[in-house]
Amino acid sequence: MLIGVPKEIKNHEYRVGLTPAGTKELIRNGHQVMVQQNAGTAIGFADDQYVAAGAQIIPTAAEIFAKADMIIKVKEPQPVECQMLRPGQILYTYLHLAPDPEQTKALVASGCIAIAYETVTDDRGGLPLLAPMSEVAGRMSIQAAARALEKSAGGSGVLLGGVPGVAPGKVTVIGGGVVGLHAARMAAGLGAEVTILDRSLPRLKEIDSDFGGRIKTLFSTQDAIERELKEADAVIGAVLIPGAAAPKLVTRDMLKLMKPGSVLVDVAIDQGGCFETSKATTHQEPTYVVDGIIHYCVANMPGGVARTSTQALTNATLGYAVALANKGWKQALRDDKHLRNGLNVAEGKVTYEAVARDLGYAY
Ligand code: NAD
Repeated sequence: MLIGVPKEIKNHEYRVGLTPAGTKELIRNGHQVMVQQNAGTAIGFADDQYVAAGAQIIPTAAEIFAKADMIIKVKEPQPVECQMLRPGQILYTYLHLAPDPEQTKALVASGCIAIAYETVTDDRGGLPLLAPMSEVAGRMSIQAAARALEKSAGGSGVLLGGVPGVAPGKVTVIGGGVVGLHAARMAAGLGAEVTILDRSLPRLKEIDSDFGGRIKTLFSTQDAIERELKEADAVIGAVLIPGAAAPKLVTRDMLKLMKPGSVLVDVAIDQGGCFETSKATTHQEPTYVVDGIIHYCVANMPGGVARTSTQALTNATLGYAVALANKGWKQALRDDKHLRNGLNVAEGKVTYEAVARDLGYAY
């Protein structure tokens, strides 16, 4: 199969759909790979490395879209990319179609086979191609909190790890899923005192046994959150109710309970945020202050560490890319029900129930 990797064109998107290592793996399986010039240059994957892996460097996206049997990307195709997709061409990338009728219409019109990373499932009910970005965001949330706590950033001047003779900072993580677990791990690694709250008791049991008592677990109630706010130097919002907007767990009024210069990091901002005072920010201007509390609400946190994110993403996507290339999409999907769950649009039809329902397509 001829595989094409265009350079991402969304604003400030530096990730790339395939690393040189992934390229080599596909070529080892008997396929050909075309990579657009400078697709990975910004994150240290130079064209030379792709060439050394066996890829061909192509100057324009147009040529890649015109020739490739499968396009591997990171972000949803932008309108100009949708126009270049061809009937029967496989598009393997993040799509997030439900809130995006325009893109859905364009993919249906193109006749392509669109497989969305975010709806591929696994045996444990997880989303294995979404999880790596939650891992990145969770770990990064503690770096963001640590930086915001510094005086120069307007913070209270607390060092999360403390030093011998000085107590460490306190981190409260609300939501013990993938983001929350990785935030807790990072905070504990720094030496902070960590509490994690969740509404799922099985989840809290798992976390408790994972950390062997190193962090405190609490059942998430309004009362428990209020008590935590009084003590915390940093609060990480990491809740998710699948398919719904995030619940507002900290109201503006509750900010009064917090110490001045403490930090709220709302990772759930991409679902509307779990703090009432959250509004989406960017890597250029990541924080703002409300009632003396620093807010960090970057909606695409993994983009800030695009090299690590690309490696984590492609570790997860590569196996399916190889299966799609080796078997063709029909057989690969027949053989793997979890990959089949990734199919969102095929040959002019919406094939993912929730998207069809939300956007009024026949299913
Ligand atoms: P997840 O499903 O693995 O975990 C969510 C957890 O929240 C679950 O354990 C659930 O029981 C818990 N929860 C639900 N309601 C709660 C409540 N009231 N109190 C406490 N816990 C509650 O989800 P995840 O992968 O960890 O993602 C968390 C959020 O982070 C999502 O909104 C996701 O979209 C977002 N995210 C954002 C970025 C970013 O760049 N900002 C990156 C990755 C993920």
